[in-house]
Amino acid sequence: MSLENITPENAAPVPSDFIRDIVAHHVAEKKYPQIHTRFPPEPNGYLHIGHAKSICLNFGIAREFGGICNLRMDDTNPAKEDIEYVDSIQADVNWLIGGWAEKELGLTTAKAPFYASNYFDQIHEFAVALIKKGKAFVCDMTPEQTDEYRRLGKPSPSRDRSIEENLDLFTRMKNGEFPDGSKVLRAKIVVDAPNIWLRDPLLYRIKHTSHHQTGDKWCIYPMYDFAHCLSDYLEGITHSICTLEFEVHRPLYDWILESLDLPRTLPKQYEFARLSLGYTIMSKRKLMQLVEENLVTGWDDPRMPTISGMRRRGVRPEALRNFAYNIGITKYNGITDVSVLEFAIREDLNKHALRRLAVLRPIKVVIMNYPDGIGEELEATNNPEDPSTGKRLIPFSREIYIEQDDFAEVAPPKFFRLKPGGEVRLKYAYIIQCQKVIKDASGNILELRCTADLTSKTGGATSARKVKGTIHWVSAQYAMDAEVRLYDRLFTEAEPEKDGRDFKSVLNPKSLEVITAKCEPSLNDAKPTERYQFERMAYYSLDKDSAPGKLVFNRTITLKDAWAKEALKG
Ligand code: ATP
Ligand code: MG
Repeated sequence: MSLENITPENAAPVPSDFIRDIVAHHVAEKKYPQIHTRFPPEPNGYLHIGHAKSICLNFGIAREFGGICNLRMDDTNPAKEDIEYVDSIQADVNWLIGGWAEKELGLTTAKAPFYASNYFDQIHEFAVALIKKGKAFVCDMTPEQTDEYRRLGKPSPSRDRSIEENLDLFTRMKNGEFPDGSKVLRAKIVVDAPNIWLRDPLLYRIKHTSHHQTGDKWCIYPMYDFAHCLSDYLEGITHSICTLEFEVHRPLYDWILESLDLPRTLPKQYEFARLSLGYTIMSKRKLMQLVEENLVTGWDDPRMPTISGMRRRGVRPEALRNFAYNIGITKYNGITDVSVLEFAIREDLNKHALRRLAVLRPIKVVIMNYPDGIGEELEATNNPEDPSTGKRLIPFSREIYIEQDDFAEVAPPKFFRLKPGGEVRLKYAYIIQCQKVIKDASGNILELRCTADLTSKTGGATSARKVKGTIHWVSAQYAMDAEVRLYDRLFTEAEPEKDGRDFKSVLNPKSLEVITAKCEPSLNDAKPTERYQFERMAYYSLDKDSAPGKLVFNRTITLKDAWAKEALKG
């Protein structure tokens, strides 16, 4: 479902935090004609749930304060970037905030992204302007020497070149006269500033590499710090919101903009704590390792913390937005418990998933006093949380499947499901009693022979009789097979990289189990846009690997937190 259906009821509550307080203050004092934010991913990988936090913050602020938010590809490093990532970023942002941003406020969304590479001409002119002001110089040191000199706070031997010589060298850099790494353009700030980012930082480097947007036009590319503040300025950004690592870059951000004597209002940078989530890694570079080493099936593997992985798994954008809002925005880095995310997903699916019957690990039950033949159709509720979804008919027959776990030959105390001689209600159907357990020569259970109380039909005149347990079932005659992919956490440890550990050493070997389940026949019409709760089991959604006659379901999330139970036991 798209977010175009957002209403006051399903919209996340408007949060408040220190950044929104700042923006509200600026709105009150009319500091800017309009609030303008941006979300600036580098297209060097797929977006993850950390990016979702930033997307919801930046687009959320624009939405709440009547502003604008740009999606901008921060594409200044062609060696690591690719059009595949540009496309996936747009798709993911559109999915997460699509109609939410566009329909209500005409915000710029992923459909019309901005590119830092669109500003390469202007950024180049700004570099020339800095050289002319004596605020930038071409440096001949190797990258290693440069690092060393910056660390020691020593001036580059090229620092006092004349403006003319710098202009000439920079032009020749641009014209492709020098190999990669042989020269850079550096800002001339303070060689031994306490903040290392101000120690004559790099502004431009030589890279004879084609760019996915500009082709072979350029062989020099601006550094992130130089391109970012200028892109913000050129787009008229008012609040440039980024994660805390960039706090130490802020003086450079301001220095560049202030050094250029720019005519318009300058953007300001604000920092917040990035999202770190338990049992997850959150870095495109590391997620790429999982993909490239085939430890997952791709960026959209449903176990990945990527937006595309979560979408494929069956998570709805509303759940991610609620999560992003619930965790809030702070200035302190910490690890968010993954149960917070799981709670948001469950809460959302409980409201929106259609209930269906499916038996994941079947055991056959023969109801001996029920007539053989076509059986009957029983009425079942589609979603008790949403009466508008109505009811459907499910076939019942003499032979059914129930879940292996719902039968115990030797039942522990308080086992209210089926046991020899015991009674249980079949959901939407009859109360049955287990009369006999049929086994093969090696003692495996082949089937259960039961009798039904034919007066006990759910909703029937004499249905008032109560038994303690209710279980789900499907008709053996009408059930369909479906491949069901049961996902679990990708890592066995809450902090996969704790104390420098290799995250690949704590991959959960049981993060995927594939089984064949028996499903009620209405699931033949399952739609990729719908979400399903297999009653008493978990939430599921149809995977893109499905085809006519071949159903594949992903388990999005269990009904209850199985790990919390484990923790209690442990
Ligand atoms: P990664 O290390 O995963 O590649 P990044 O910060 O390099 O992340 P960018 O593409 O530069 O990725 O990020 C785009 C925006 O998303 C930036 O403004 C960045 O601050 C924000 N962002 C990235 N990771 C997180 C996170 N874990 N939590 C919140 N915001 C994030
Ligand atoms: Mg980055």
